[in-house]
Amino acid sequence: MRNTMIDYENLQKLNASFFEEYTKSFERVLNSGWYILGQSVKNFEEEFSKYNNSRYAIGVASGLDAITLSLAAFDFEEGSEVIVPSNTYIATILSIAQNNLKPILVEPSLESYNIDPAKIEAAITSKTKAIVVVHLYGKSCEMNAILEICKKYELKLIEDCAQSHGATYKGKHTGTFGEFGAFSFYPTKNLGALGDAGAVVCDDAELAHKIRRLRNYGSDVKYYNEVLGYNSRLDEMQAAFLSVKLKRLDDINKHKRELASLYLKNLKLDFIKPVVDPDYFDVYHIFNIRHERRDELKAYLLKNNIKTEIHYPVSPINQNALKGILDKGAFPISEEIHQTTLSLPISYCHTSDEVTRVIEVMNKF
Ligand SMILES: *Cc1c(COP(=O)(O)O)cnc(C)c1O
Repeated sequence: MRNTMIDYENLQKLNASFFEEYTKSFERVLNSGWYILGQSVKNFEEEFSKYNNSRYAIGVASGLDAITLSLAAFDFEEGSEVIVPSNTYIATILSIAQNNLKPILVEPSLESYNIDPAKIEAAITSKTKAIVVVHLYGKSCEMNAILEICKKYELKLIEDCAQSHGATYKGKHTGTFGEFGAFSFYPTKNLGALGDAGAVVCDDAELAHKIRRLRNYGSDVKYYNEVLGYNSRLDEMQAAFLSVKLKRLDDINKHKRELASLYLKNLKLDFIKPVVDPDYFDVYHIFNIRHERRDELKAYLLKNNIKTEIHYPVSPINQNALKGILDKGAFPISEEIHQTTLSLPISYCHTSDEVTRVIEVMNKF
């Protein structure tokens, strides 16, 4: 036990517990002879919208596409500005850039790691059209304050929910506050497929129609194309697998929350732990702590057979790919997070014994 490696994540082990149902789904889809936009996608869309309490869900090819198509649905004028947190994963920023819009970075709060509503207004100009919030690590953003700003300045709101499946704010699901909620089902996410997949949720029939059209070559009727669209369809196989896993999503989140409470209760105060607030139902896609000597801590844990990750080692402002796209600026809070954050093992297949061992080893650092 002492010497077995604790992986950060083990997808083989995680998905092994779905083997029988996955096999049945595979056979059903294989034998149906229909692999794109069929009954499995329809079923999953219905189940996923029901799960989130949204009126519509539209399956797409990835989380990146879910955000990109959401922005495309508004047809904003080229060069319009879109506000986005400075410490997000690059996909959120790419989705803005790929729509020929300008990403405007706003710093997160050092307590929640999510966009700081108090800093948004200073970034708004006459060109600002939308905010893309990111519910990072599985914690909702402070939605009341953000909704107020959107209303005051007539901004559209898109929520990047790639890390927040099942997370709520004051009892309401992330993804249902803005015009669109964009989800990723990348295999490591709380609701993960066996390949790339994503979905957009929304409450407006017209907007839902726009996403449906955009994902399928801009077409409502086969061979008749109304707008310049994309090929970004969720396939039948992934949809069928997702329907299987969706039934266990609450169980997955419950398990992660139990492991998180062990960390929260037993880790020494030397480590800065995530905040807990009764208004927020956190699903801990990632359980991060912060520590001044993060790299040393990571190496020490690895020496003790515990693998960890860093989300993320490089901030968007320092990414070569974004050099010509982002305005230069100082983002000290993001830098602080990028330099000190460490993600601990917290997957569906980790046991409380394993997490207890991580805690014991960490407390001796
Ligand atoms: C994973 C992730 C994405 C992108 O999802 P893909 O399915 O990989 O395209 C976007 N935003 C955030 C915050 C993510 O964690």
